[in-house]
Amino acid sequence: MSLVIFSHGRCLSYDIGLDHPEAASRIYAIQDQLLSSGLEFVVQQRDATPASMEQLYLAHDPAYVDHVFDAVPDTGHIWLDDDTQVNAKSLNAALYSAGSGINAVDLVMQQPDTQAFCLIRPPGHHAEFRAAKGFCVFNNIAIAAAYAMQQYDLGRVLIVDFDVHHGNGTEDIFQHELRVKFFSSFQHPFYPYTDPVSHSSSIVKMPLAAGTTGALYQRRFNEEWLPLMQAFQPELVLVSAGFDAHIEDDMGQMKLTELDYLWLGQQLKQLADQFCGGRLVSMLEGGYEHSPLARSVVSYLKGQL
Ligand SMILES: [Zn+2]
Repeated sequence: MSLVIFSHGRCLSYDIGLDHPEAASRIYAIQDQLLSSGLEFVVQQRDATPASMEQLYLAHDPAYVDHVFDAVPDTGHIWLDDDTQVNAKSLNAALYSAGSGINAVDLVMQQPDTQAFCLIRPPGHHAEFRAAKGFCVFNNIAIAAAYAMQQYDLGRVLIVDFDVHHGNGTEDIFQHELRVKFFSSFQHPFYPYTDPVSHSSSIVKMPLAAGTTGALYQRRFNEEWLPLMQAFQPELVLVSAGFDAHIEDDMGQMKLTELDYLWLGQQLKQLADQFCGGRLVSMLEGGYEHSPLARSVVSYLKGQL
């Protein structure tokens, strides 16, 4: 067993406006908590490398990717949607975010019984095949999944998304992809206001009412998801790990605690152990209140040890 964290200084070297919730200080808070919890001495930390244009094209319309690079100015910023502001530095960071998922897939595919966590920003799960959305420019987890299928010829990739917001982008990209099974739990009704009903066998949704507790979450995960996940027999488990369903994070109104994230870490590691030699890659999505975010990430990682 070994746990590796991929990150890069470029993911910390920008901010997209004062008081923006998706701030570099989120990552600093997690790094501080890794240190004070002692976990820093147990995990390995590695620098991510940037994704290539061809790798971005694996999950996005090349015309969209090219448009983003053409449109972002050297100085100043543009808006790709109402919530998604991009400048030259954040676009560069987005390449490292996407690249970290490729690094992590390579690692766990080549070194069984290894888990990876990508400590990155910007997040990715709202980015669609040809559109940015909700702070996300490129869909990091979808690029990682598409790369795994292409590079390692995988036929069954499981993606789990427990962010408080629905992973609309991942659904958009994989709704017709039979090699992927995408499980997403999310507060409903809530941003990004996607259809709570699945219309594809590749997509499994768990809409949750505001105020949902960890006990209810765990029960529904066990009853509704676990049998389907086991039946899928994944060859790789990928996780869009957002921590904004925490009770102290006012980005949403759910009531999970760090103990629920510990439990999620344990469940997903067990699943990966059972079916795919422990191959588990998690990528940071949301989580905006620094202290609960940092505590939750550390708990989630401890669940995998
Ligand atoms: Zn979120």
